[in-house]
Amino acid sequence: RKQQLLMLKDLPAETLDGKKVGLLANVGSLNDISHLADVGAEGIGLFRTEFMLMNTNTLPDEKTQYQFYCDALHLMAGNTFTIRTLDVGADKELPCLATIDEDNPALGLRGIRYSLSHPELFKTQIKAILRAANHGPIRLMFPMINQIEELDALFEYIEQCKAQLVEEEKGFGELSYGIVVETPAAVLNLKAMLPLLDFISIGTNDLTQYTMAADRTNPMLTRQYPSLSPAVLTLIQQTIDVAHQRNIRVSLCGELASDPKVAPLLVGMGIDELSVNLSALLEVKSALRNINYQTCLSQAKHALKLTRIDELARYINGID
Ligand code: PEP
Ligand code: MG
Repeated sequence: RKQQLLMLKDLPAETLDGKKVGLLANVGSLNDISHLADVGAEGIGLFRTEFMLMNTNTLPDEKTQYQFYCDALHLMAGNTFTIRTLDVGADKELPCLATIDEDNPALGLRGIRYSLSHPELFKTQIKAILRAANHGPIRLMFPMINQIEELDALFEYIEQCKAQLVEEEKGFGELSYGIVVETPAAVLNLKAMLPLLDFISIGTNDLTQYTMAADRTNPMLTRQYPSLSPAVLTLIQQTIDVAHQRNIRVSLCGELASDPKVAPLLVGMGIDELSVNLSALLEVKSALRNINYQTCLSQAKHALKLTRIDELARYINGID
């Protein structure tokens, strides 16, 4: 089976009838990046930058971060490279950052909220990324965005970073900008935010947590935190429809995309690009290459009609 899958490595991710899907990888280190070719990933749909800080007690300075992104770009050789700014807080504690004492960390200072309340930390990362963009294309996305004010604030910081780089006579390049759609508020406010964005990526891990109000790390809540629910499926469809009305491409980088039984259904819903774990990439490609787009469409249509979590689970598991 493994041998069979490896033969798909250099073949495109497309359905039997030729519907192409972007198939990218979720990664967290240079080592991961060096393995993209092993599974034939077309690029990176999610680079979790907090992972590079997991094993260090000191925060890397701008130069160190710049070097790191340049090394990554070199390995990427012009392929899609999507960086997510630091997503700290809640379940993602870093030894180099002071821990925050909060009663409800998942509802607290995390993702973009943390970055916006630590502007120096945020601007250091942005400056490093802007400088690296001088050497290759970078898509930059922001975690935990709820509404347009957050975009206004962060784009203001980005302008400040560019002005500083001009002053310091350091070269920089242009970026494409996107958000991780991972709260119900982001879905509801999406239309207003799209004019400021080049792409979006749906983060179903947190979207599920915040839609179901169920802690994704709590083992007692496996029933309340289902991998797929009618509510989240509806939000995904709404996100895709709103974005497509504005011709914005939609990626999906949550764990859901790594499930070979679910990936075709997501394509049927209109997802343009899946970003999956390296270990799941060939299985997902195989699933897409063995199905007709028409079948994806009818699976999506059927799944969206189901109103119970267990019905949905049974339907997905029954798909062969
Ligand atoms: C998500 O929330 O779906 C996501 C991709 O991000 P993370 O799992 O890193 O929170
Ligand atoms: Mg998330």
